[in-house]
Amino acid sequence: MTTRMTGFDFERPAGLPALRGLLARLGKEQRRFTLAAGGTDLMPQLKQQQLATEVLVSLNGVGELAGIELASDGTLRIGALTRLAEVAESPLVRERQPALAAVAARVGSPQIRNRATLGGNLLVNNRCVYVNQSPLNRTVHAPCFKVDGDVCHIVKSAVRGKLPQCQARFVSDTAPVLLLLDARLVLLRGRGERRVPLRRFYRNDGMERNVLKPGEVLGWIEVPPAGGLRIDYDKLAVRNALDFPSLGVAVGVREDERGEPVELAVALTGLGTHPLHWRFALVGGAAPAAVVAQACARAEKSVTTYQQDFFPRDYRKKMIGTFVRRGLRRLGRGAWT
Ligand SMILES: Cc1cc2nc3c(=O)[nH]c(=O)nc-3n(C[C@H](O)[C@H](O)[C@H](O)COP(=O)(O)OP(=O)(O)OC[C@H]3O[C@@H](n4cnc5c(N)ncnc54)[C@H](O)[C@@H]3O)c2cc1C
Repeated sequence: MTTRMTGFDFERPAGLPALRGLLARLGKEQRRFTLAAGGTDLMPQLKQQQLATEVLVSLNGVGELAGIELASDGTLRIGALTRLAEVAESPLVRERQPALAAVAARVGSPQIRNRATLGGNLLVNNRCVYVNQSPLNRTVHAPCFKVDGDVCHIVKSAVRGKLPQCQARFVSDTAPVLLLLDARLVLLRGRGERRVPLRRFYRNDGMERNVLKPGEVLGWIEVPPAGGLRIDYDKLAVRNALDFPSLGVAVGVREDERGEPVELAVALTGLGTHPLHWRFALVGGAAPAAVVAQACARAEKSVTTYQQDFFPRDYRKKMIGTFVRRGLRRLGRGAWT
């Protein structure tokens, strides 16, 4: 059941200087504002009253933050407001970072991808079966931390202020691929900006999800050249389209100039509060099959799953190894599995 949104003011600044000015003013006035890009994650939350805001600031008039450029060193600079459909179809992304184009095409459905942005996907809210419900459904349980309550229904011993306070799951499809690609985020605040490697961006909590400060805007995603890394991504989901990952696995194999494998990399989404990733060296005589077994064991051991999804918690965990091996076969490394 979808309900009505509570009221808010709406602003749509035209261009980056206007956005900076607006955010400075709203900050001074101490008004609670929310940034909206494609709105595909945000609008359901507003409608289901999981979120309330005084001012909704649409970023869609900030053209400077949309589009894809290639820097002279081979880095792709992708505006945070670039739609996922554009990322998926861009000849530049397909040629330079085919795994990124492929994963962008796995998010939601064509309608979602025509609207949703790459920046919004990296910032998509964490999900939990107790929270992502209509207000009526939520009345069955006491309000949890994520909706201003005082309990976590997943981990009853969770305490306010002590992380992880909330176990809502991280569900971005693009994050694991961008993690393996060593992407950096350019964050805009006031007149300045800072760069944060994606691997340092996320935090272990379903509410305090990342290091983005209030009023900070994700401007660009910078993706350096892949350097011989080939990546496969696949997700466990109920349906092929329109479903968040119950588990998402990116597997990467880095090859040197002679085509010899030198590194195995694995990144996960959909399991815990934040994405996880590991790299394993394939040099020094280690048998690739042994490294693959070690990688799967390490991933399974590091992850704690909870019953907060359609698939049973143990099943999601067990499928990590299966997805890693399937990914390797698609990368032409079936002999390692
Ligand atoms: C039916 C359905 C299916 C979906 N399936 C998937 C799926 O398979 N995989 C998946 O990963 N997601 C899925 N989603 C979630 C969502 O559509 C995507 O994650 C999408 O990429 C979010 O992008 P957006 O631009 O719409 O973000 P928005 O909804 O506009 O914003 C998301 C969050 O990011 C913040 N934000 C956005 N841009 C910026 C910025 N530049 N700077 C600072 N903050 C910003 C917003 O304040 C908000 O908190 C699905 C959603 C729906 C409704």
